[in-house]
Amino acid sequence: MRIIPEALIADLVSPEDAFSAVEACFAAMARGEAYNFPVVREALGEGRQYGFKSGLDRAGGSLGVKAGGYFPGNAAKGIINHQSTVFLFDPETGQPTAMVGGGLLTALRTAAASALSIDRLARKDARVLGMVGAGHQAGFQLRAAAKVRRFDRVIAWNLHPEMLPKLGEVAAELGLPFEAVPLERMVEADVIVTITSSPAASLMSAHVKDGTHLACMGTDTVGKQEVEPALTARATVFTDEVAQSATIGEAQHAVGSGLMTAAEITPIGEVLIGRHPGRRSDQEITLFDGTGVGLQDLAVAGVALARARERGLGVVVEP
Ligand code: NAD
Repeated sequence: MRIIPEALIADLVSPEDAFSAVEACFAAMARGEAYNFPVVREALGEGRQYGFKSGLDRAGGSLGVKAGGYFPGNAAKGIINHQSTVFLFDPETGQPTAMVGGGLLTALRTAAASALSIDRLARKDARVLGMVGAGHQAGFQLRAAAKVRRFDRVIAWNLHPEMLPKLGEVAAELGLPFEAVPLERMVEADVIVTITSSPAASLMSAHVKDGTHLACMGTDTVGKQEVEPALTARATVFTDEVAQSATIGEAQHAVGSGLMTAAEITPIGEVLIGRHPGRRSDQEITLFDGTGVGLQDLAVAGVALARARERGLGVVVEP
């Protein structure tokens, strides 16, 4: 068994690796070769959340679990609030093969899923990227989105405007003009990424023009919400995992209020394997409800393990 600490991940897994790994895992899910086990998520009190996302990918040869959560008291102790670790097992024997730091991997696999949706579902002529959210994940999202379309500029809104300059620095690094805007100006965007921990809708249907692609990435649990249910219902909805989308993803609200049904949500893997055409017209609004699945974590942790083995990195212990 190999222990691969967080500090090694940046040298082992690139955003391009994450994109390919996530693409392969969503395709394997659509072919029925990989599946996610039910998510366990528990409130530990005092704002602490803990949970497990796990699955089996027969095609990719991975079995494992990401254990992690949110510990709001950490910042005061000089530790980051989100903590996660991926454990991989041999699918034939059940023996542990790796324990891998999950922080950067989570950001890379989440940004990869969002970028994959933009790559496959956004209009080819998309030029304006809208960002709703400016926290830890937002910079990763912006970098990944910029790799799949030739954006001319970025417009951004965040409830806490003091966080926006940091995201502006990422845009500057990418050579993209950046402007902080009110939500009403999101109508200028061709692609909008939402990545907040909001408990109520920020982005309304009136803020979005026809033909936009939305990657809604922040809502991954009951009670979070980023967009108005009427906007979700107005869009053609794609997701990583339909069961999660309808219960813990952004679509929980539109489905819960009867504006749409889970049967109307398409796994993005269906688009990847050619079973669904994806976007059908330049006027259609497409919405990717990225809930985050265990198989994504296993896929990127598998890349880290393969690279660490090649380079003799990490610490090897008897299983
Ligand atoms: P963060 O704590 O660094 O940033 C939080 C963001 O949400 C900030 O932009 C903040 O201004 C905004 N926000 C907070 N309260 C708000 C409110 N009431 N209304 C509107 N905006 C509000 O968090 P992060 O690490 O950037 O993660 C953002 C979200 O993405 C979280 O909800 C996290 O759980 C989720 N997430 C999802 C996945 C996935 O796979 N889908 C993966 C990782 C993180």
